[in-house]
Amino acid sequence: MKTVYTFVPSPNHVYPDHPERPGRLDVLQPKLKTFEAERIEAKPATREQIAYVHHPELISGLERVCREQAPGIIDYAPTYVTKSSLEDALLAAGGVITCTRAVLNGEAANAFAIVRPPGHHAEPDRAMGFCIFNNVAIGARYAIESGLERVLVIDYDAHHGNGTQAAFRVDEQVGFLSAHQYQPGFYPGTGWIDEVPHAKKRVVNVPLPAYAGDRVYEQVADRIFTPFVRSFRPQLIFVSVGFDAHWSDPITTLGLSTAGYLMLAKKVVALAEEHCEGKIVFVLEGGYDPVNVANGAHAVFIAGTGKGESDVNDPNPNAEPDCESRIEEILRWHGF
Ligand SMILES: [Zn+2]
Repeated sequence: MKTVYTFVPSPNHVYPDHPERPGRLDVLQPKLKTFEAERIEAKPATREQIAYVHHPELISGLERVCREQAPGIIDYAPTYVTKSSLEDALLAAGGVITCTRAVLNGEAANAFAIVRPPGHHAEPDRAMGFCIFNNVAIGARYAIESGLERVLVIDYDAHHGNGTQAAFRVDEQVGFLSAHQYQPGFYPGTGWIDEVPHAKKRVVNVPLPAYAGDRVYEQVADRIFTPFVRSFRPQLIFVSVGFDAHWSDPITTLGLSTAGYLMLAKKVVALAEEHCEGKIVFVLEGGYDPVNVANGAHAVFIAGTGKGESDVNDPNPNAEPDCESRIEEILRWHGF
């Protein structure tokens, strides 16, 4: 079975000097044809599908802001909108739904929604953190609406997936794990271990110190992702993949290399193969260096298709912190 992808570059969703820009995908775009995956066309999400996660007033409010005030800044991150942003965001969310449908109906083994604007900071009632609609959360709800009983989202963007956590805070059918940089002043400031005490083993936060890299993430995958997936027993796994945890990303200070991203993608694909017949949908979140985005996306395709290899050698030059006590604290909190 094949790997499919949607590509929603949203060239008109752009703001002067903003890191979340169409150029993020410029190195990746010409390479897409070289990967052993098939492009499928994203259909825009309907307003009803957006409302799986978001309050209807957010949709109508965005519609008004895009029509009357764009281009402009709508929150402190800063998140911006242009005249086309509502349509772009509908197509980005729709790109995830299109991928999810392809995996659920057996057309594809797995899928990668390469979309922008990104989504994982957007909360049910607000756009936030460069994100308009929460694309991955809408995809997860779509899967539940389609009849699945349990789906799970693993988020290893550099930032906490606060919006996805908010969307599923009281939703027993969706599990959520976020591994992210956590320190005073680092955006968005949420995602500590004990933040969702009523949802142990279902909402898992893995806050990491600066410079955590391939070795730490491998431990996190083997010792936290694995028991989490095993205990939740998902029928489909979503991955919020952000390439801003790369050590050279301009807006973060983590330590993954391209080899680390490939290791992570292979591990989550293996977990999907073990637990849910390989059903996995990757969804692009952040990543602000276009070369890292291209290399990281290639790693996702290598893992998804089982074909090709990465010839990128970009090891993290910084020493990694010791995260043993942190990992043990997380395992203890959840009883894994
Ligand atoms: Zn991020």
